[in-house]
Amino acid sequence: MEPVVELQHITHVYVSDREASLALDGLDLKVYPGEFVSLVGPSGCGKTTLLSIIAGLLQPTRGGAFVYGRKVEGTTPEVGYMLQQDYLFPWRTIFENASIGLELTGRLDEKHLSRTSSLLEEMGLEGARNLYPQQLSGGMRQRVALVRTLSTDPGLLLLDEPFSALDYQTKLQLEDLISETLRERNKTAILVTHDLSEAVAVSDRVILLESHPGKIRRTFEVPEHIRLARPLMAREQDGFNELFHEIWREMENAGEKE
Ligand code: ADP
Ligand code: MG
Repeated sequence: MEPVVELQHITHVYVSDREASLALDGLDLKVYPGEFVSLVGPSGCGKTTLLSIIAGLLQPTRGGAFVYGRKVEGTTPEVGYMLQQDYLFPWRTIFENASIGLELTGRLDEKHLSRTSSLLEEMGLEGARNLYPQQLSGGMRQRVALVRTLSTDPGLLLLDEPFSALDYQTKLQLEDLISETLRERNKTAILVTHDLSEAVAVSDRVILLESHPGKIRRTFEVPEHIRLARPLMAREQDGFNELFHEIWREMENAGEKE
């Protein structure tokens, strides 16, 4: 099977006028169609840098990034990017915010607009379409951001800590909603999170990075019975805690290296 994402020896150096810092050092990674992969690791280990490279927002210093077999040379509608901050425009209604991707890619037609409406409905936002972002809770705003990301139908989703600003209960509900929505549509996803329990609950694979310089320390396969359970239930499966603690210990070791 052709990977959706292939990273070949990605190295990235940030250069400022005073110093150069090696953020990523020769990182290789393949992510296959329909996979849900999480990236975890200490703060500053290069997770956001890696997503920006895959998204085409940042050119790596060395190495190649490929998405659907093509070299990444800029942003493309095939890749959706969702961040911790929702970046909704306060002067636009929820529906106008949700459809902005269609506007920017010249697809503001009947078919895509009705897709956006059904997505809003699916996310429980049908009553909010004519409201403004400041009238919504944090969890609702992240759901709008998800609809906006999905409206252009990207095959690959990059999620950079999309739940971390939410309260615990909203976060669990949203994890559930996002992971079900993406699985139903057979999307491929890469999630960055600092929450190990979230990573184990939603992913097929958890990739632990170490820092300074950022590289893959270890990959953990999530057992099938945990993968098949919805995120909320996954936390109660046999073996969940053991896997959580195994990743935790390894992450502590990764931190001690610094
Ligand atoms: P993470 O998302 O895992 O916390 P980042 O990818 O944001 O890590 O950062 C990786 C490393 O690169 C850190 O040491 C950070 O300080 C550095 N870095 C990130 N962005 C920049 C930038 N624009 N200029 C200089 N250094 C940066
Ligand atoms: Mg980050």
